[in-house]
Amino acid sequence: MKLSRLALAALLGLSLAACASVPAEPAGELKPSTAWVAYSPDWAAEAEEVYSEATAWIDSVEGDLPDGSWAVVLDLDETVMNNIAYQISRDLTGESFTPDSWHAWTQEAAATLVPGAAEFVRHVNAAGGHIAFVTNRADSEQLATENNLFSLGLKRSEDFQVLLTRARPAGPSVKDGRYALVPAMLAAQGYPDVEIIAYVGDNRNDKPAEPGAWEFFCIDQGGMYGEYCAEVPGTGR
Ligand SMILES: [Mg+2]
Repeated sequence: MKLSRLALAALLGLSLAACASVPAEPAGELKPSTAWVAYSPDWAAEAEEVYSEATAWIDSVEGDLPDGSWAVVLDLDETVMNNIAYQISRDLTGESFTPDSWHAWTQEAAATLVPGAAEFVRHVNAAGGHIAFVTNRADSEQLATENNLFSLGLKRSEDFQVLLTRARPAGPSVKDGRYALVPAMLAAQGYPDVEIIAYVGDNRNDKPAEPGAWEFFCIDQGGMYGEYCAEVPGTGR
């Protein structure tokens, strides 16, 4: 699928100036995973479908749960925040992910929304649930991350109640320790007796290692990062 530069800019939410270094037809320069997320409508459709499934599941169980007694934990990158502009820039320069380049990207607070994420977050809050974001972004990136979320319309207290990052490089990428803290953090903030009923992510490990009384919903991110949910981007997974 070929897009004009204007369409590409609109798609990524970037200014034309910011896209000045992006060729009009960059798909051939990109990894298949990057191109799929950037240009295929299937990616947005899949993300929205996962959030639709998660919403339907929430609706099927929340009626039996008192308001304020439950929470959903979401990963951030490629689950709520779309960083495809970062990956495009890396592909076009022939470079891969590095902590320094990633840190610089996070400080721009320029990530866009994964389709369906904001609606899901608002649905959970309206249904009486809490939202906790547990991310492997660094604690040094927390302020810019929260500013980025704010610019996307996701505000602390109103839309999410917890945002847990990790120390770099020493902090573990495995999130179980932080998952276990979420109910206690909510209680300490004044939201007592909360149970986590679902996790949403784009990696297979965006949930606790041990099975529990929760559901897991996973978004295909084209195989860009980590232990992704689908083996290959798009159809035929
Ligand atoms: Mg992620």
